[in-house]
Amino acid sequence: MGIKIVYKKHWIYYILHWLYGVEWGSVVITWNGKIYTPSPLPWHLVEHEAVHLKQQGGIFGSFCFFVKYVLSSKFRLDSEVKAYRVQYKSFCQVVKDRNRQGIFLNKISEDLSGKMYNNIIGFGEARELIHSG
Ligand SMILES: [Zn+2]
Repeated sequence: MGIKIVYKKHWIYYILHWLYGVEWGSVVITWNGKIYTPSPLPWHLVEHEAVHLKQQGGIFGSFCFFVKYVLSSKFRLDSEVKAYRVQYKSFCQVVKDRNRQGIFLNKISEDLSGKMYNNIIGFGEARELIHSG
């Protein structure tokens, strides 16, 4: 897919750390066609981040995305729902077991409704949004 994964901190991380107290290792940064992460990511998470890279486009788009993402919970939710839908589909393409699919759906629904995104929606709504995509 031609996505570059870079194993070092992007300066955006320091802003997120300052704003939300997130730690390196619990956050992945996408910026200008590249993914910044401390360690290798599972395939479905790469697919998730690829959605954000498409949403951002180039360096100017990445900057605008970041500003909107921080300022607007609606924008953050919309961007994340699209990414989580792709991630869930990508997981289900590889893992055919219905039980494991359900466990995975619950896990990412917890993430989407959790403090990582500032509790933008409830668990049930998150699950419904990801599953119905
Ligand atoms: Zn995301």
